[in-house]
Amino acid sequence: MSPPWRGVIEEYRDWLPVTATTPVITLGEGGTPLVHSDWLSRRVGAEVWLKVEGGNPTGSFKDRGMTVAISVALAQGADACVCASTGNTSASMTAYAARAGLRPIVLVPQGKIAAGKLAQATVHGAHILQVRGTFDDCLVIARELSVRYPVTLVNSVNPLRLQGQKTAAFEVVDVLGDGPDLHVLPVGNAGNICAYWQGYQEYAAAGRASRLPSMWGIQADGAAPFVVGRPVAAPETVATAIRIGNPASWSLAADACDESGGRIGAVSDEQILRAQRDLAARDGVFVEPASAAGVAGLLSAAERREVPVGGQVVVTLTGHGLKDTATVMAGFDSVIDTVVDVEVHAAAAAAGLS
Ligand SMILES: *Cc1c(COP(=O)(O)O)cnc(C)c1O
Repeated sequence: MSPPWRGVIEEYRDWLPVTATTPVITLGEGGTPLVHSDWLSRRVGAEVWLKVEGGNPTGSFKDRGMTVAISVALAQGADACVCASTGNTSASMTAYAARAGLRPIVLVPQGKIAAGKLAQATVHGAHILQVRGTFDDCLVIARELSVRYPVTLVNSVNPLRLQGQKTAAFEVVDVLGDGPDLHVLPVGNAGNICAYWQGYQEYAAAGRASRLPSMWGIQADGAAPFVVGRPVAAPETVATAIRIGNPASWSLAADACDESGGRIGAVSDEQILRAQRDLAARDGVFVEPASAAGVAGLLSAAERREVPVGGQVVVTLTGHGLKDTATVMAGFDSVIDTVVDVEVHAAAAAAGLS
């Protein structure tokens, strides 16, 4: 029997900015499933693998960076931490802060946080401030707080976050045996695409991979600053986790695309919701809307015949569907198909069994 997964700091200690004395605050994050998708592979004419990050302890990839950011914050003597969040950063930060005994302060934009994520921050004991503004406004305030007050900023502008998040690229290579041809993922604040690119490059430099993938980032049409080429003042999309108009890691992400021969595109909310349903119905993987953007982007690229034929493609599914059930349920007319009496034959007939 192989030993149980120990979380990303212990599994990838040599690759991370920690020392022997850094206290390790972990929930066993990372080690998430890489699932082959038969229907996507057939549809796009390549081998498509899904990196299911909803399998992390708080249900999104944010945990990979948070274990590093919170561990180092604790080592440096912090007693409070702050983040701006569209939901998942706060869900993750508050869980790790709870374990570390740090006081978590969360800044959220008005009225656009999925209920499951707010529940997570609440139950983990966060002080939640709602800002009359967008996510981008929240991030400005969070940065200022960390400069002027004794509180550690753990948004992905904190480089420790990207350090932890790069471990997802390590895991992909560890499982596939080499880098894929193409890596597709949703882009919001644009930290994760940089983290993956960094991870792939580090593994290649160390001889653990012989290939580097092209990095494709996917935004939502109503929140696509990379596609329009400038910040979007009032970003709008059902995919709340990527409802960001002014990505903090803009130039780093642009570099990752250029260097890897990739690009950033956008898909409609309709394409995102369709991909979300298809993933759930065909692969058995329930993701939140933002997490389906990568699949939607891959499908639309396949229609334009832009996917490398027969290549290895990895798509990151960033967060779990249970975080935001309201959005998906709004797409169904009713939950109950038929009401029956307590009678087995009536149930069979109604269910189409014979
Ligand atoms: C944070 C997040 C993203 C966007 O990641 P960035 O690093 O901000 O580009 C996408 N999907 C989900 C579910 C997220 O939580």
